[in-house]
Amino acid sequence: MALLPVSVALQRILETARTLPAETVDLLHARGRTLASPVISKVDNPPFDASAMDGYAVHADDIATVPATLNIVGESGAGHPFDGALGNGQAVRIFTGGRVPPDADAVVIQENTEALGPTVTVLETAKRGANIRPKGQDFTKDECIIEEGRLLTARDVLISASCGYGELSVIRKPVVAIISTGDELVPPGKLLGPGQISGSNAYGLAAVVEAVGGEARFLGIARDSLASLEEFISAAGDADVLVTSGGASVGDHDLVRPALENAGAKLDFYKIAMRPGKPLFFGSRNVGSRLQYCLGLPGNPVSAMICARVFLVPLISRLLGREAPFEAIDAVLAEPVPANGPREHYMRGLLDVSTAPARVTPFTNQDSGLVKSLQRANCLVVIPADAPRLPAGTTVKVFRLDI
Ligand code: AMP
Ligand code: MG
Repeated sequence: MALLPVSVALQRILETARTLPAETVDLLHARGRTLASPVISKVDNPPFDASAMDGYAVHADDIATVPATLNIVGESGAGHPFDGALGNGQAVRIFTGGRVPPDADAVVIQENTEALGPTVTVLETAKRGANIRPKGQDFTKDECIIEEGRLLTARDVLISASCGYGELSVIRKPVVAIISTGDELVPPGKLLGPGQISGSNAYGLAAVVEAVGGEARFLGIARDSLASLEEFISAAGDADVLVTSGGASVGDHDLVRPALENAGAKLDFYKIAMRPGKPLFFGSRNVGSRLQYCLGLPGNPVSAMICARVFLVPLISRLLGREAPFEAIDAVLAEPVPANGPREHYMRGLLDVSTAPARVTPFTNQDSGLVKSLQRANCLVVIPADAPRLPAGTTVKVFRLDI
């Protein structure tokens, strides 16, 4: 099988992935979820003409010349509207958020008045509409406030409540099962024996999954044996996505692909023209009535995280029904980049968006063993396959690393 270009591989993943069904969540748990049906306001906002200040609701004509003394005929506080009528020469004491009586047309702020028992003397004129927030000024009933597909922010949650929604229809969270593989791996925090390393991938990958809106389930570290791998894979039965790391190349101990195939996964591709990360398995299998997407990532932590950014993040986004939310942006190289080989190179680097156009500096040492440079980077610079040496100033595609 020839090495597949990254764009083709991604396209195939996105074509295979189907948006998951919707579910209803309480508004308190809606942040970070993806909206499945639009928020159409059920109410006008504000729902009535509301006072923006503490003061007096009046007829503007009554205070055309000042000072003007008016009789106070009632009070309108927030949640306690004044129900009577406002005659000529009369005023209603009003507070912020109080309903403006239907026949008043201005609110005079209290700083411009002097109250004396049952009367108030207005010292400054006020225009019609002054200090009144008219009904529906903000938005109106039946107005579309949030389109479906949106990753809900705290502000979206707030306005949904204002629109009269106590719960929202959101896409079910994709459950992503994660399996680490390798006899050398021990859980982080455990003392390392000879030849052992801390298994880090699952933790980074779980964090990526959660940040993008999925539900991560770490199943543990499988041994480098078919039996162990198959046992772990069978435990992933109800997940929407199964992600493995390690064991993905063609060494004697690289058994992930046969184990997945034994478990019913149909291979789509397993080698990508990408650096880092050539061995990458993608396929799917039916588990019960569910289609499970299987993504076999490389074991090298830098490769695993970069491949997750390039393939897993868009996969999860697609399952959530979002449209290409993690697209590349253009930036110019601050420094030259040497000629590239036949694989598209995802270089760790630093993006500076304070200039226009944005400038990007790829790190000089791109050794895929350097986890620290991945942690310090804020972007991936995409150098096309077979690109010649690129001088400073060349425009390149850049993926932000913001997770
Ligand atoms: P593999 O693809 O299994 O040959 O792994 C490639 C390299 O990544 C090896 O050096 C592994 O020790 C390392 N590796 C594999 N899985 C992990 C992991 N979960 N955490 C840290 N390093 C890993
Ligand atoms: Mg291994």
